[in-house]
Amino acid sequence: MHCPFCSAADTKVVDSRLSNQDTVRRRRECVSCNERFTTYEKAELNMPRVIKGDGTREPFDEAKLCSGLSKALEKRPVETQKIDDSINQIKHRLLASGEREVTTGFIGELVMEALKKLDHVAYIRFASVYLSFDDVDAFRQAIDKLEHNK
Ligand SMILES: [Zn+2]
Repeated sequence: MHCPFCSAADTKVVDSRLSNQDTVRRRRECVSCNERFTTYEKAELNMPRVIKGDGTREPFDEAKLCSGLSKALEKRPVETQKIDDSINQIKHRLLASGEREVTTGFIGELVMEALKKLDHVAYIRFASVYLSFDDVDAFRQAIDKLEHNK
């Protein structure tokens, strides 16, 4: 961090405290001109952008994720709280991946994993749409995964 007054490269932290939940406020002092200034530090956590099948990119859309899961879980006996937890887990995995871009396929895998734990009917529903019926092998594999999970 360069001093904003004299551009010296060396500054020391004289005070450091949490200014709100996720921001650290630091008082710094320039080693060469002794001026003081404040910096705010925040962890950078951004949702990766989504690479679609045709190669175009779009921002991550939580509403899309929710509607995909709800569609698969329609009229299934699964608590709303559990669905919310799954959505949060998926979002956490995406944040924690540290990737700037992920494919829709990667997100699809996370959804399949979540549904496998929530409800097997929903899992099959999602797999049949997501993997499409003409990809019989992929669908077969999805069923096998389910059976191995018992
Ligand atoms: Zn300075």
